[in-house]
Amino acid sequence: MARSVVKFGGSNFKSVGDMAKILKAVRLYPKPPILVVSAFYGITNELIAVMDSTGDEGEIRRMTDRLKTMKRESLEQFIDDEEARKAVYARLGERLEALSRVMLGTHYIGEIPPFIRDRILSYGERLSSLIVTAILEYHGISASEYLPEDIGLLTDGEEGNAAVDFTASKESVQSALPQDQVCVIPGFYGISPEGRITLLGRGGTDYSAAAVARCVGASSLDVWKDVNGYLSADPKAVASPQRIARLGYTEAAELSYFGASILHPRTVEPLEEKEIPIRVFNIDAAENLEPLSIIGPDEQTPPGPKSVTFTDDFAVLTIAGAGVGIKPGILAKVTGALDAAGINIKSVVTSQTAINIYLNEADLENTHKTVSQLQLKTVGQILPRKNLSVVALVGDGLGDAPDVAQGMTKALAAADVRFQIFSVGASEAAAYAVIDRGDKIVAIRALHEAYFPAGEESS
Ligand code: ASP
Ligand code: MG
Repeated sequence: MARSVVKFGGSNFKSVGDMAKILKAVRLYPKPPILVVSAFYGITNELIAVMDSTGDEGEIRRMTDRLKTMKRESLEQFIDDEEARKAVYARLGERLEALSRVMLGTHYIGEIPPFIRDRILSYGERLSSLIVTAILEYHGISASEYLPEDIGLLTDGEEGNAAVDFTASKESVQSALPQDQVCVIPGFYGISPEGRITLLGRGGTDYSAAAVARCVGASSLDVWKDVNGYLSADPKAVASPQRIARLGYTEAAELSYFGASILHPRTVEPLEEKEIPIRVFNIDAAENLEPLSIIGPDEQTPPGPKSVTFTDDFAVLTIAGAGVGIKPGILAKVTGALDAAGINIKSVVTSQTAINIYLNEADLENTHKTVSQLQLKTVGQILPRKNLSVVALVGDGLGDAPDVAQGMTKALAAADVRFQIFSVGASEAAAYAVIDRGDKIVAIRALHEAYFPAGEESS
């Protein structure tokens, strides 16, 4: 029987004691799993902050010292034997030394080329894999660390946001990982065709784990979280959300896209074709391998609404002027310029007098500037709009269910929520409204009440 690929993320590495939960979870597996691990909680952000600060050498040293102290705390608690601990300290010291050398190098030359940036950020994950492997081994679980560069996990080479090349990686990854021991792989990066470290995008360890699962033909991708799997809404927004036991790949992708933070949006991409299921567990509650939520093929999942979700990472740039919506060429110029500036457009909605560009909020200012610089004739006003949220209803079949638009708008209207834009049909599995951010909680509750009325809870 094939083995599972198991992902432990930043939320599994928040405090020193978390390592005990990881040991317990790993012991639940009848066959040694492949582990793909993220950086300890907050470490990637810290690496970015120090790298981008204009600080002095001392700042880099202080950070690597902090990392050393932090890792040593885990090792002290979980490896009693001093000799054994010292051996791990030595390996840890070498890795941290390599990190500070690269960081000091960029500091001296006063510039960070993208491929060096990727290399620096990969250290968060590489420290985790070293520590996890050492602790598993000390606790009698046969384990070794396997770095993406050693197993040939190859990417398309795009710096900062690469995609894994499954075809090129499959054989080498498969043959590099022995069946009879736990293999620990640092997530978040792969290797470019030139042999350089390339990151898989922020939050990319989910995607690396999915890529490894695809390469080895895993029986499942298991994701261990500190929450109770997928729910019908954020428990911070509604009082008693329902657990979603089964989800389709498309639904999971839409949920990630619309803000549910359980999985990175790209996670399902490597798994869909091979129908490898994703199983979600809560590390604080697991006594067995009974998953809270399973994500699998769409056709094996009952259709209908699954969850109300939201994202705040949303803004609109409105380009207004008589006839902009029907003048040929304007949209092409705008999207061309944004593409050249590396800005991702989430959607475009036009009317006779306005073109609305939907974006991530962080891109709004730059988009405004880029479009203004085009000095387009016929454009009257360029209006950035922020403090918006998107609330979405996700579930297979919603995109073409005739009553969804009516049901959602009715629920929102009854709660006195005005929406700026409403969209249904862009995806088979989602319908959404753009609203003022201040109305968000009211809107989520209204939609949840309409589609998941309290008292009808299953599971
Ligand atoms: N540590 C990386 C990040 O923070 C990757 C991950 O956590 O999945 O983006
Ligand atoms: Mg994550």
